[in-house]
Amino acid sequence: MLNVAVVGSGPSGVYTAQSLVQLDPEVRVDVLDRLPCPYGLVRYGVAPDHEKIKSLQNNLRTVLEHERIRFLGNVEVGTGGVPPARLRELYHAVVYCVGAATDRHLGIPGEELPGSWSATEFVSWYSAHPDSAADGFVLGARTAVVIGVGNVAVDVTRILARGATELSPTDMPQAALTALASSKVTEIHMVGRRGPSQARFTTKELRELGALPDTEVIVDEEELALDPAYRDPSGLPATQRRNVEVLRAWAAAPPRGAPRRIRLRFFLRPVELLAAGDTSLIEGSRELEGRRVGAVRFERTVPDQDGGIKGTGRYEDLQAELVLRSVGYRGVPLEGLPFDVKSGTVPHSSGRVLRDGAVSLGEYVAGWIKRGPTGVIGTNRPCAKETVMSLLEDTSGLVDREVPEDALPWLRAAGLSPVEWPGWLAIERAEAELGASLGRSVVKLPDWQSLMTAAQCDTQSQRARNQQPV
Ligand code: NAP
Repeated sequence: MLNVAVVGSGPSGVYTAQSLVQLDPEVRVDVLDRLPCPYGLVRYGVAPDHEKIKSLQNNLRTVLEHERIRFLGNVEVGTGGVPPARLRELYHAVVYCVGAATDRHLGIPGEELPGSWSATEFVSWYSAHPDSAADGFVLGARTAVVIGVGNVAVDVTRILARGATELSPTDMPQAALTALASSKVTEIHMVGRRGPSQARFTTKELRELGALPDTEVIVDEEELALDPAYRDPSGLPATQRRNVEVLRAWAAAPPRGAPRRIRLRFFLRPVELLAAGDTSLIEGSRELEGRRVGAVRFERTVPDQDGGIKGTGRYEDLQAELVLRSVGYRGVPLEGLPFDVKSGTVPHSSGRVLRDGAVSLGEYVAGWIKRGPTGVIGTNRPCAKETVMSLLEDTSGLVDREVPEDALPWLRAAGLSPVEWPGWLAIERAEAELGASLGRSVVKLPDWQSLMTAAQCDTQSQRARNQQPV
């Protein structure tokens, strides 16, 4: 048997495991994850009100229950966990599918003011990520500015605009639901630095904003028309053309006076976050300690000849007690693996990890850490397959090395307490029970302690069962 470790149980990791067992009957896969729960961004990134995409978990589950695939949660690889070099001793091959774990920065003054968050922090909070320590996102806020016009920006805008009635049936943790239910945010600006035809959101996601109850989307025809492609969208790719059509229809619609408003803005580049009550200009260091964000200053831009933008020297401040920076994810280096800082990815050739430009036999990458944080969930399938083809081509070189038949005892000996599949199923049961006790359906456990308690409950009862005479 060829023993393979896949690090990461999000879509790219699960699709990699699936391809491996489908394409080779002599492969056995351990899917390792830092968290006790599988599914990566499908569990901790896909918005809770996107039930259809969330239901993808059922497909991923079927893969993880395959007889030659084993899920091992609560196994950290890298700093504080198993070093990649040790993992190579335990498995014939290791495929890193660790995604892009952090957010990109704007690099502008005031970015770290209280009240300014990355969209990733906000998403982690309402998705019950156990590492999410932050709270109080919407506390005291009436106006929010979301910077960026990608699908994550649309997600966070929509969640901010949804009421308790719509969020309650989701698996959102109770604390986030309670906070969002009492949110006073009624004005949300979602702002792009380029034009409407260059926005990164997809049309289905954009349209959803227009279907939110008690909410209207407001766009300014004059601002849209700054984009030459808005006037003549015929040469645009299909998604962008459809986006422009949706925006055009919204611009033409008369205001409804709905209690909540989403304002889509374009050609505004963020240059500074201003503390509440502060309207002075950018330069110079100001004492910001202890002060909250009060506004975002944008520079008006115009399109240049190359699809980019240039500044005009004219500025516009948008009031905001809450700022969500949604300008993309970024890969983080994993100690012991090479990393290209510029692209935020691991250097590779068709999925084979390159160390100093040479292939490192037995180490592979797939997903966002391989190609950067772009594409939808399905994009991970061909990406994983390419990597698996490379790995299987290398088989003869890989099996030359002797590895333990089962890595689990070695992982335990290294002080780790992996959560196996029954432990995860126990977490699922605990979440269903929590939901029932709150009069909701499933409600996610939001912290490490409750997740591990639920998982270990199962381990203990399993041990007790094993000790009983048959
Ligand atoms: P994204 O699609 O790359 O969008 C990032 C946005 O941030 C763009 O509008 C970009 O503008 C803007 N931006 C970047 N740097 C900026 C700066 N310095 N100042 C102002 N704006 C800046 O990233 P994402 O929204 O995080 O999504 C990541 C991936 O996940 C995407 O492939 C997305 O489709 C996918 N996703 C899909 C779904 C879904 O299917 N429902 C949901 C969530 C995420 P420019 O274009 O001008 O750079």
